[in-house]
Amino acid sequence: MTTLRQRFGQGLWRLADLVQADDRSRSFRAKAYRGAVWSLDELSPELEDPVEHMLSIPGIGSGVVRLIDEFRATGRIAQLDQLADRYPAEVADLRRLPRMTPAILRSMKAELGIETEGDLIAAIESGAVETLRGVGLVTAEKWAQVLDLRPAQSAIPSFRAAVYAEGLSRHLERHLGGRVWVAGAVRRVEEWVATIDLVAEVGDVAAARTFVEESALGFPTGSSQPDRVQLMLHAGVTVGVHLATAADLGLRLLVATGPPEHVDAVMGGTSGPQATEEAVYAARDMVWVPPPARGLPVEEAIAVVRASEIRGDLHLHSDWSPDGRMSLAQVLEEAVTRGYEYVLITDHTSGLRFGGLDEEALARQRESLHELRRVFPDLIVLHGAELNIGRDGELDIDDEALAVLDLAVAGLHSYFDLGREDQTRRVLRALEHPKVKVLAHPTGRRIGTRPAIELDMRAVIESAAAHGVALEVNGHRDRLDLSAGDVALAGSAGALLAANSDGHRVGEMGNIANSVATIQKAGVGPGSVVNTRPASEFLEWAGNGRRVTH
Ligand SMILES: [Zn+2]
Ligand SMILES: [Zn+2]
Repeated sequence: MTTLRQRFGQGLWRLADLVQADDRSRSFRAKAYRGAVWSLDELSPELEDPVEHMLSIPGIGSGVVRLIDEFRATGRIAQLDQLADRYPAEVADLRRLPRMTPAILRSMKAELGIETEGDLIAAIESGAVETLRGVGLVTAEKWAQVLDLRPAQSAIPSFRAAVYAEGLSRHLERHLGGRVWVAGAVRRVEEWVATIDLVAEVGDVAAARTFVEESALGFPTGSSQPDRVQLMLHAGVTVGVHLATAADLGLRLLVATGPPEHVDAVMGGTSGPQATEEAVYAARDMVWVPPPARGLPVEEAIAVVRASEIRGDLHLHSDWSPDGRMSLAQVLEEAVTRGYEYVLITDHTSGLRFGGLDEEALARQRESLHELRRVFPDLIVLHGAELNIGRDGELDIDDEALAVLDLAVAGLHSYFDLGREDQTRRVLRALEHPKVKVLAHPTGRRIGTRPAIELDMRAVIESAAAHGVALEVNGHRDRLDLSAGDVALAGSAGALLAANSDGHRVGEMGNIANSVATIQKAGVGPGSVVNTRPASEFLEWAGNGRRVTH
């Protein structure tokens, strides 16, 4: 049994995807349609509300009301049918491929009958895709690379899952009245997510069940249980909503977070209700294990670095960077709020394609920071930069200007396609510069959209260890770079790591949690993470033995 609201929600969501694929300048309209789908849960399941009531709901305007009228009268949305005829069925995924255009999407369907990613893969393999206007060998190879990154058709990259998980949590909190926690793979900061698990604290389980089952955001799947509803969102991802009472919250959160082996190890075959997760562990004389570490044997899991041990962030962009969206004062204020002892300001430098600070601008920034240190006397404010590593490993700022910086981060932002030898040589050369103390996002990958560069990771780890350079674990959810696998390698080889947010706006400074999560997943302890060090030790490392002071 589905409601009209759900079927209309599905149609409107699909219309949003098609409108966006058809004309990228209309993405604001697509966004408005998706917003309206969220708002449909304010209306009755059969959409019988008076027009005035519909129009009083934020997110529902007269355009959407007309579509509701049409759908109620005919069971269809004409505009959707027209667009759907011209575009592949999996247009929502296909439009995200690099260099994709509306014209290519249309000719894929019209000339080659491509409807799905699977069809496209077959057409790439047979070479048929290169007969399409605007698609050459290079583009076809790029698509093959990107499609190859996906572990399973049904999984979505963590950064998208986290956005849905956050949105759904707030939505359910508003409608169900109790708190909602993100659990499962999103909470464990996995790279790919097949199911978004949420635990909702509810008073009336039956009423909450009905609300979730009838939500306009998706359709219930067959695998629901009395206290767990599973929805397939129109956005193409599965959500499990675990309905818990306050007394049972701890256990439900543990189980919904998984993985099952860890849950078994904690429960030891017995169970009893507990209000918090900590209490579940405590009842078994265990200390709480951070979710990302729960895939490890328990003895290893309890020794991992904790978020509370991080004393500073070493990769931060202010609005001195072309893409930065916070002032230097905001960066420092947030650092103080987070309880940091030190921060390293690392705005982009001029070698970047979209520009950055040159030697002269760095000198001016130095003055600004000098002023600001008076406003934040308890925070150690270090002046650095995110240097751009050039084609052959050269840096984009001259040595005279570098000498004045406290320390610097260096990262690759171009020439991702070089072969393994060239790429490795390039990175190793950058690591040899005495001012480079952190290698930013070492592999350059973007989960689901850009593969890691070809790199001899063992050689990079060895060189980093030899030069006292820390390898960054970038906390952007679409990067998580280094990956947990490489973090484990670096940790066991004695290289240092840096847990960094790479924040460009205040909210992104919270990315540091994803970085810590990745290090936890690798089973690495605080001793390997340079920004857990107390200020005096940290400054000694930063200055290569000579203390950096201000
Ligand atoms: Zn960067
Ligand atoms: Zn950066």
